[in-house]
Amino acid sequence: MADKMKTKILFCILTAFAKWCINFLMKFNFFTEEPKSEEQQVLEKFLSMSVRSSDKVFDEFAKLEGAKVFGTEPLKRFVYIPGTRDDRVLLVAHADTVWDKNWQPDLNQDEQALKYSGGQYFNKDRYSYCGIGADDRAGCAILYLLKNSGHSLLILDGEEHGQLGAHFLQDNYPEIFEEINQHQYALQFDRQGNSDFKCYDIPVCSEFKQHIKSTLNLRDAGKKSRTDIVVLCKNMCGANLSVGYYDEHTSCERLCYKDWLKIYQKTAKMLKNKQKRYEILQKNENNENFEM
Ligand SMILES: [Zn+2]
Repeated sequence: MADKMKTKILFCILTAFAKWCINFLMKFNFFTEEPKSEEQQVLEKFLSMSVRSSDKVFDEFAKLEGAKVFGTEPLKRFVYIPGTRDDRVLLVAHADTVWDKNWQPDLNQDEQALKYSGGQYFNKDRYSYCGIGADDRAGCAILYLLKNSGHSLLILDGEEHGQLGAHFLQDNYPEIFEEINQHQYALQFDRQGNSDFKCYDIPVCSEFKQHIKSTLNLRDAGKKSRTDIVVLCKNMCGANLSVGYYDEHTSCERLCYKDWLKIYQKTAKMLKNKQKRYEILQKNENNENFEM
């Protein structure tokens, strides 16, 4: 009986001590999270939008001053917000994801549940069928943050299904297609990883590649594959940049916040400076590029 009483008293003392410790740590904000930066809040907003539809992304950009929305059909539409600077660059991202319901209507699955842990965003339910749509909501968030930079924004739909939005623009709006090709160059924010860029088979001049390499400290990842800028760049140079997502197109898709933030900050800094126009090369008969 005496032993039992001793244990009880000891338990009470330990519980009281634990409570006191927790209160003490709470007092000094040990458990309260740091307030999130504007960048992180914008990123989370875009990563939380349903991967099944591009609608919310389009709505968000359509609200911006000067926004022009083209097309009403999902996957075949785009929002264009012309910049105000004389030396404007065209900034490009796509709103759709590989889990778009307009592409895969039969997938009867729930939405993604965003979780942030260890510096990374991913789907809370990793056994779910879908990822978080960081490809390319990560790029959309960067464009949104650059909305007051004076550069032009172009948000496309249907990239994952053969650049449908970009082809829709090219085929139906030749005057817009012409206008966007007047930009100094195009930057798309839509590549996995944190360290490279691609110009695909756009015949860009070596000076343009050097500009991207040296100002953003990224390496050239070659020509393979294609994306929206391959359709859009007929008379201007263009590059697609790593934006910090990994394992895209799988339910294990994740985004490293630091990697994403780094490319956003570097690009924002670069775009504050005067930007020059980089001329595109022409292909000769042997299909080799030569400078004009
Ligand atoms: Zn993409």
